[in-house]
Amino acid sequence: MSTAPRDNRPRGLILVVEDEPAIAELIRLNLAQSGYGVHLESDGARALDTVRRLRPAAIILDVGLPGLDGIEICRTLRAAQDWTPVLFVTARDDEVDRIVGLELGADDYVTKPFSPRELVARVGGVLRRTHGVPDAAPQTVGAVTLDATQHRVFAGDDELALTATEFDLLAHLMRRPGRVFTREQLLSEVWGYSSVAGTRTVDVHVAQLRAKLGGASPIRTVRGVGYAAEGGA
Ligand code: CA
Repeated sequence: MSTAPRDNRPRGLILVVEDEPAIAELIRLNLAQSGYGVHLESDGARALDTVRRLRPAAIILDVGLPGLDGIEICRTLRAAQDWTPVLFVTARDDEVDRIVGLELGADDYVTKPFSPRELVARVGGVLRRTHGVPDAAPQTVGAVTLDATQHRVFAGDDELALTATEFDLLAHLMRRPGRVFTREQLLSEVWGYSSVAGTRTVDVHVAQLRAKLGGASPIRTVRGVGYAAEGGA
Protein backbone atom coordinates (compact mmCIF):
# COMPACT_ATOMS: atom_id res chain seq x y z
CA MET A 1 0.00 0.00 0.00
CA SER A 2 2.82 2.41 0.74
CA THR A 3 4.26 3.93 -2.40
CA ALA A 4 7.67 5.38 -3.06
CA PRO A 5 7.76 9.15 -2.76
CA ARG A 6 7.37 11.19 -5.92
CA ASP A 7 6.10 8.33 -8.04
CA ASN A 8 3.39 9.09 -10.54
CA ARG A 9 0.93 6.37 -9.71
CA PRO A 10 -2.59 7.58 -8.99
CA ARG A 11 -3.27 7.89 -5.27
CA GLY A 12 -7.01 7.34 -5.54
CA LEU A 13 -10.03 9.17 -6.82
CA ILE A 14 -11.25 12.15 -4.82
CA LEU A 15 -14.77 13.44 -5.36
CA VAL A 16 -14.92 17.22 -4.92
CA VAL A 17 -18.41 18.65 -4.36
CA GLU A 18 -18.21 22.43 -4.60
CA ASP A 19 -20.55 24.87 -6.33
CA GLU A 20 -18.09 27.76 -6.64
CA PRO A 21 -16.22 27.05 -9.90
CA ALA A 22 -13.06 28.96 -8.97
CA ILE A 23 -12.67 27.09 -5.67
CA ALA A 24 -13.51 23.75 -7.28
CA GLU A 25 -10.84 24.35 -9.92
CA LEU A 26 -8.26 25.37 -7.31
CA ILE A 27 -8.90 22.17 -5.34
CA ARG A 28 -8.87 20.04 -8.50
CA LEU A 29 -5.55 21.49 -9.63
CA ASN A 30 -3.83 20.97 -6.28
CA LEU A 31 -5.10 17.42 -5.86
CA ALA A 32 -4.11 16.50 -9.41
CA GLN A 33 -0.61 17.90 -8.86
CA SER A 34 -0.31 15.63 -5.84
CA GLY A 35 -1.23 12.57 -7.87
CA TYR A 36 -4.93 12.19 -7.06
CA GLY A 37 -7.62 11.54 -9.60
CA VAL A 38 -10.37 14.15 -9.27
CA HIS A 39 -14.05 14.21 -10.16
CA LEU A 40 -15.96 17.46 -9.69
CA GLU A 41 -19.65 17.87 -8.87
CA SER A 42 -21.45 21.12 -8.11
CA ASP A 43 -24.87 19.74 -7.23
CA GLY A 44 -25.72 17.86 -4.04
CA ALA A 45 -28.18 15.33 -5.42
CA ARG A 46 -25.89 14.41 -8.30
CA ALA A 47 -23.00 14.05 -5.87
CA LEU A 48 -24.82 11.22 -4.07
CA ASP A 49 -25.30 9.33 -7.33
CA THR A 50 -21.64 9.88 -8.16
CA VAL A 51 -20.45 8.44 -4.82
CA ARG A 52 -22.41 5.26 -5.52
CA ARG A 53 -21.23 5.06 -9.12
CA LEU A 54 -17.54 5.95 -8.80
CA ARG A 55 -16.79 4.81 -5.22
CA PRO A 56 -14.21 7.55 -4.54
CA ALA A 57 -11.42 7.07 -1.99
CA ALA A 58 -12.57 10.23 -0.21
CA ILE A 59 -15.01 13.12 -0.62
CA ILE A 60 -14.29 16.82 -0.21
CA LEU A 61 -17.69 18.24 0.57
CA ASP A 62 -18.71 21.89 0.60
CA VAL A 63 -21.40 22.49 3.24
CA GLY A 64 -23.29 25.21 1.33
CA LEU A 65 -24.59 23.62 -1.86
CA PRO A 66 -27.70 24.15 -3.97
CA GLY A 67 -30.38 21.51 -3.47
CA LEU A 68 -29.01 18.97 -1.03
CA ASP A 69 -26.40 20.54 1.27
CA GLY A 70 -23.17 18.89 2.36
CA ILE A 71 -24.49 17.91 5.78
CA GLU A 72 -27.50 16.17 4.21
CA ILE A 73 -25.24 14.34 1.78
CA CYS A 74 -23.02 13.06 4.58
CA ARG A 75 -26.03 12.09 6.69
CA THR A 76 -27.55 10.17 3.79
CA LEU A 77 -24.31 8.29 3.12
CA ARG A 78 -23.84 7.33 6.77
CA ALA A 79 -27.47 6.23 7.08
CA ALA A 80 -26.77 3.87 4.18
CA GLN A 81 -23.66 2.53 6.01
CA ASP A 82 -21.39 4.26 3.51
CA TRP A 83 -18.25 5.29 5.42
CA THR A 84 -16.33 6.87 2.54
CA PRO A 85 -14.07 9.42 4.29
CA VAL A 86 -15.57 12.92 4.19
CA LEU A 87 -13.61 16.14 4.58
CA PHE A 88 -15.95 19.12 4.91
CA VAL A 89 -15.21 22.56 3.53
CA THR A 90 -17.15 25.21 5.42
CA ALA A 91 -17.56 28.94 5.06
CA ARG A 92 -18.70 29.71 8.61
CA ASP A 93 -17.85 28.81 12.19
CA ASP A 94 -21.46 27.93 13.00
CA GLU A 95 -21.28 25.28 10.29
CA VAL A 96 -18.29 23.76 12.08
CA ASP A 97 -20.44 23.50 15.22
CA ARG A 98 -23.12 21.67 13.23
CA ILE A 99 -20.64 19.27 11.66
CA VAL A 100 -19.07 18.40 14.99
CA GLY A 101 -22.28 18.49 17.03
CA LEU A 102 -24.28 16.26 14.71
CA GLU A 103 -21.68 13.47 14.88
CA LEU A 104 -22.04 12.90 11.17
CA GLY A 105 -18.97 10.76 10.93
CA ALA A 106 -17.06 13.55 9.22
CA ASP A 107 -13.37 12.73 9.12
CA ASP A 108 -12.04 16.28 9.05
CA TYR A 109 -12.91 19.81 7.94
CA VAL A 110 -11.29 23.01 6.74
CA THR A 111 -12.77 26.50 6.84
CA LYS A 112 -12.72 28.97 3.96
CA PRO A 113 -10.44 30.62 3.10
CA PHE A 114 -8.08 27.65 3.25
CA SER A 115 -4.66 26.93 1.87
CA PRO A 116 -4.87 24.39 -0.98
CA ARG A 117 -1.66 22.78 0.29
CA GLU A 118 -3.22 22.31 3.71
CA LEU A 119 -6.33 20.80 2.15
CA VAL A 120 -4.23 18.30 0.19
CA ALA A 121 -2.31 17.43 3.37
CA ARG A 122 -5.59 16.87 5.22
CA VAL A 123 -6.84 14.57 2.46
CA GLY A 124 -3.63 12.56 2.83
CA GLY A 125 -4.19 12.41 6.59
CA VAL A 126 -7.78 11.24 6.22
CA LEU A 127 -6.76 8.49 3.80
CA ARG A 128 -3.89 7.37 6.03
CA ARG A 129 -6.14 7.15 9.07
CA THR A 130 -8.93 5.31 7.34
CA HIS A 131 -6.49 2.86 5.76
CA GLY A 132 -5.04 2.17 9.17
CA VAL A 133 -1.50 3.28 8.36
CA PRO A 134 -0.08 4.16 11.74
CA ASP A 135 1.02 7.69 12.53
CA ALA A 136 4.67 7.93 13.44
CA ALA A 137 4.36 9.70 16.79
CA PRO A 138 3.22 7.78 19.88
CA GLN A 139 -0.24 8.81 21.00
CA THR A 140 -1.43 9.27 24.55
CA VAL A 141 -5.02 9.34 25.77
CA GLY A 142 -5.42 9.55 29.53
CA ALA A 143 -2.90 7.14 31.07
CA VAL A 144 -2.52 5.02 27.93
CA THR A 145 0.26 5.54 25.39
CA LEU A 146 0.28 3.73 22.06
CA ASP A 147 3.37 3.60 19.86
CA ALA A 148 2.23 2.38 16.46
CA THR A 149 5.66 2.18 14.87
CA GLN A 150 6.97 -0.09 17.64
CA HIS A 151 3.61 -1.79 18.16
CA ARG A 152 3.73 -1.21 21.92
CA VAL A 153 1.09 -0.06 24.39
CA PHE A 154 1.68 1.24 27.90
CA ALA A 155 -0.78 1.86 30.71
CA GLY A 156 1.21 4.23 32.88
CA ASP A 157 4.63 2.52 33.08
CA ASP A 158 3.30 -0.99 32.47
CA GLU A 159 3.62 -2.46 29.00
CA LEU A 160 0.59 -4.47 27.88
CA ALA A 161 0.47 -7.56 25.69
CA LEU A 162 -2.33 -7.07 23.18
CA THR A 163 -3.44 -9.23 20.29
CA ALA A 164 -3.13 -7.68 16.82
CA THR A 165 -6.88 -7.03 16.70
CA GLU A 166 -6.96 -5.49 20.17
CA PHE A 167 -4.04 -3.28 19.18
CA ASP A 168 -5.69 -2.16 15.93
CA LEU A 169 -8.99 -1.45 17.69
CA LEU A 170 -7.31 0.63 20.41
CA ALA A 171 -5.17 2.47 17.85
CA HIS A 172 -8.24 3.27 15.77
CA LEU A 173 -10.09 4.75 18.76
CA MET A 174 -7.05 6.65 20.04
CA ARG A 175 -6.26 8.20 16.66
CA ARG A 176 -9.29 10.43 17.08
CA PRO A 177 -9.83 10.99 20.81
CA GLY A 178 -13.38 11.94 21.70
CA ARG A 179 -14.81 10.83 18.39
CA VAL A 180 -17.62 8.32 18.81
CA PHE A 181 -17.49 5.28 16.53
CA THR A 182 -20.47 3.03 15.95
CA ARG A 183 -19.94 -0.72 16.13
CA GLU A 184 -20.58 -0.91 12.38
CA GLN A 185 -17.88 1.68 11.72
CA LEU A 186 -15.36 -0.14 13.88
CA LEU A 187 -16.18 -3.45 12.25
CA SER A 188 -15.73 -1.99 8.80
CA GLU A 189 -12.66 0.16 9.56
CA VAL A 190 -10.73 -2.15 11.92
CA TRP A 191 -11.79 -5.61 10.76
CA GLY A 192 -12.30 -4.55 7.16
CA TYR A 193 -15.77 -5.94 6.68
CA SER A 194 -19.27 -4.81 7.44
CA SER A 195 -22.03 -6.95 8.80
CA VAL A 196 -24.58 -5.87 11.35
CA ALA A 197 -24.67 -9.47 12.61
CA GLY A 198 -20.95 -9.23 13.40
CA THR A 199 -21.11 -6.19 15.64
CA ARG A 200 -20.99 -8.36 18.76
CA THR A 201 -17.40 -9.08 17.75
CA VAL A 202 -16.66 -5.45 18.53
CA ASP A 203 -18.19 -5.67 22.00
CA VAL A 204 -16.20 -8.81 22.78
CA HIS A 205 -12.90 -7.21 21.77
CA VAL A 206 -13.68 -4.01 23.66
CA ALA A 207 -14.36 -6.10 26.78
CA GLN A 208 -11.03 -7.91 26.36
CA LEU A 209 -9.20 -4.62 25.85
CA ARG A 210 -10.77 -3.11 28.94
CA ALA A 211 -9.81 -6.13 31.01
CA LYS A 212 -6.17 -5.69 29.97
CA LEU A 213 -6.16 -1.89 30.35
CA GLY A 214 -7.83 -2.03 33.76
CA GLY A 215 -8.38 1.32 35.45
CA ALA A 216 -6.34 3.09 32.75
CA SER A 217 -8.85 2.22 30.01
CA PRO A 218 -9.74 5.32 27.97
CA ILE A 219 -12.62 3.54 26.22
CA ARG A 220 -16.03 5.00 26.95
CA THR A 221 -19.30 3.33 25.99
CA VAL A 222 -21.76 5.74 24.40
CA ARG A 223 -25.11 4.12 25.04
CA GLY A 224 -27.03 3.27 21.92
CA VAL A 225 -24.21 4.54 19.69
CA GLY A 226 -20.81 2.92 20.16
CA TYR A 227 -17.41 3.66 21.64
CA ALA A 228 -14.94 6.52 22.01
CA ALA A 229 -11.45 6.92 23.51
CA GLU A 230 -11.28 9.78 25.97
CA GLY A 231 -8.69 11.11 28.38
CA GLY A 232 -9.50 11.82 31.98
CA ALA A 233 -12.10 9.06 32.06
CA1 CA B 1 -20.86 26.68 -1.59
